[in-house]
Amino acid sequence: MLEIKNLRKAYGRHVVLHDVSLALLPGAVHGLVGANGAGKTTLLNCLCGLETDFGGTVCDTAGRPIREHTGLLPYEPYFYPRLTGREYLEFCLQARNRPLTDFTGWNRLLELPLDQYADEYSAGMRKKLALLALLVQDFDYLILDEPFNGLDLEANLLLKEMLRRLRNRGTGILLTSHLLGALTETADEITVLVAGRVQRHYVAAEFATLEQDLLNSLHQEKLGLLDALMVTSGP
Ligand code: ATP
Repeated sequence: MLEIKNLRKAYGRHVVLHDVSLALLPGAVHGLVGANGAGKTTLLNCLCGLETDFGGTVCDTAGRPIREHTGLLPYEPYFYPRLTGREYLEFCLQARNRPLTDFTGWNRLLELPLDQYADEYSAGMRKKLALLALLVQDFDYLILDEPFNGLDLEANLLLKEMLRRLRNRGTGILLTSHLLGALTETADEITVLVAGRVQRHYVAAEFATLEQDLLNSLHQEKLGLLDALMVTSGP
């Protein structure tokens, strides 16, 4: 299990995460929602070791280094210039000391032009290539920052099915999304982050409450204002 306990992260005087605790179990999908700037990416970066200067603890309760068996899909995957998709996949495997493998089967699903330069791919193709690099490495845990973002309809459906199947064979998956439906359809648990604090953890049986809670806060904070603005700016 990956365990985050009392995680506190600040950039200068700006505290971005306040005592955040959550657990990622093997064979479970855990969703993370929150407004823009709530701290989701920062949390994932702390968990994966891309940020090291933070308070609290982040560990694998099995005692293994998290990075060895955890794959990260960044919000905006980066590719070195003049590297083809295939070379990028090979680079990822070599960097992790994993044997080179044939990508044909996986790529029949994602249909990428693996012999073109990756930095010339479209945004959706870049996301698919970064996903493919994770899939061929067979990680125990996957940390996915906005995996659905930029994918076409077919790839979205495929990704949801992949997540379910990976979960069923024991992979622990932590993912962020602004698409509530994508999370409620795939996650076993959803954590709501508000201004760097855990507002609440919801289990699957409570997902209907989650939607209602989000709607209620939208009604309270924004919809009255919208009505007022539309009245004052009306004809
Ligand atoms: P979004 O939904 O827009 O992707 P998020 O929940 O992922 O947002 P973060 O990217 O984690 O939010 O950012 C949380 C806060 O931390 C924001 O106020 C952001 O400005 C700040 N922040 C993030 N990275 C840095 C950085 N490197 N230096 C300073 N502030 C940062």
